[in-house]
Amino acid sequence: MSHPSKVWFIPVDEADTITAIADKLRLLFDRSGFSDAVSANSVAQIKMHFGEKGNRGYVRPELIRGITDAIRARGGRAVVSDTNTLYRGGRTNSRDHLQLARRHGFTDEAVGGGVEIPDEKDATSVASVPVAGRFIAAAKVLRCYIETPLLVGVAHFKGHLVTGFGGALKNIGMGCATREGKLAQHAAVAPFIIGKNCIGCGACRDVCPADAITVIDGKARLDPAKCIGCASCIAVCKNDAVELDWRGGTGSLPDKMVEYAAAVLGSPGQKVFINVALRITAECDCLAKDDPRIVPDVGLFAATDPAAIDQASYDLVCTKAGGFDPFRKAHPKRDPVRQLDCAERMGLGTRNYELVTVGQ
Ligand code: SF4
Ligand code: SF4
Repeated sequence: MSHPSKVWFIPVDEADTITAIADKLRLLFDRSGFSDAVSANSVAQIKMHFGEKGNRGYVRPELIRGITDAIRARGGRAVVSDTNTLYRGGRTNSRDHLQLARRHGFTDEAVGGGVEIPDEKDATSVASVPVAGRFIAAAKVLRCYIETPLLVGVAHFKGHLVTGFGGALKNIGMGCATREGKLAQHAAVAPFIIGKNCIGCGACRDVCPADAITVIDGKARLDPAKCIGCASCIAVCKNDAVELDWRGGTGSLPDKMVEYAAAVLGSPGQKVFINVALRITAECDCLAKDDPRIVPDVGLFAATDPAAIDQASYDLVCTKAGGFDPFRKAHPKRDPVRQLDCAERMGLGTRNYELVTVGQ
C-alpha cells in the first residue's frame, strides 16, 4: 500500500456560528501548512462554486474570507472564481454568473479578494493541455488555473447525480474546464427516456439547452444526436423517467473528469484543497433549489492530495450517516469510488490517508 497522505480535519458542530466556522477554516489553513505556500505579492486562485439560483448548499462567502485573510496575512492576494455551466441556468454566461455570485454574497469586500468568472474573456484565457489519459488526449481548461503560483480548490462536499459525490477532484476536473471541456467530459452521456415512467409533463423539454427533447403523444422523446449530455433533464424529472445508459461509454464521465483534473494539477504552481462537509446534500450545488441535508454537518478538511481528501471526506460522511453510504443510497446506480480509483491510476494521489484532527 502507498504511503498515507496527511488530511487535516476540524469537526464542525451544528451549533457553530458562521464566524466560528470561518475561524476554524483560518486555523485549518495555517495548521495544515497551507499558509507557507503563499508567496508575498503573488495572486492565489481560489476555485469554488458560487451556487445555482435558489441553491443554498454552496460554501458561504464568510468562510472564504477565512482563507483570504490567511493569504493576505502572508502578503499575498486572492482571486475567487468559478466557471460557466453547460446547462441552461443562472450560471450559463459570465455576466449572469457574476450577478448571481454577488446576490449570493460573493462581493470583493465580503470575500476579501477579487471575484471573477474567467470564461468568455478572449482566446488567450483558454489553454489546451496534453493528458496521457484513457479518454482525454488534450484538456480544454481556463488558463488562470494552470498559471497561478497557488491554486486553492475549495469544494462543498456533497452528492452528485453522475459521480456519486463531488469534492476536490470534481471541483478541479469539471470546475476548471471550459464549456468545451465540460462538453467533452459529458459527451456520450446522452440519457434515454423510460416510457412507462414518463407522464409527458414536459419539464425535461423545457430545461433542455439543446432542444433535444420533444413531447409527443404524452411521452418525452429524446434525440441523442442533439443531446450535449448536460444531465439537466435527469435532475428535473420527478418520475425517474430519464436514465443514463451505464452499459455503454457513458460510465466514463468520472474517468474523464479525473483526467481533466490531472491536466490542471500537472501544472507547475502549488495546489491545496479544502473540502467543506457542511449542509451535505444528495445533489450538487448546480441544482436550482434548496436541496435538503441528508447527513448532519461533519467538518472541514484540508490536504495537498485530492484523492486522500475526497476519500477522508467520504469516509467521515458515511460514519456520520451511521455507517451507511448516503450517496449510494441517493444514487444507487452510481459508483462514488470510481473517481478515486481513477485518481490513483492517474498518479494524482492515494486513497490511503492519515487523518490529523486539528485541536483549537
Ligand atoms: S420530466 Fe420526466 S415525466 Fe416529465 S416529460 Fe420529461 S421524462 Fe417525462
Ligand atoms: S437531452 Fe437532457 S442531457 Fe441532453 S442536452 Fe437535453 S437536458 Fe441535457
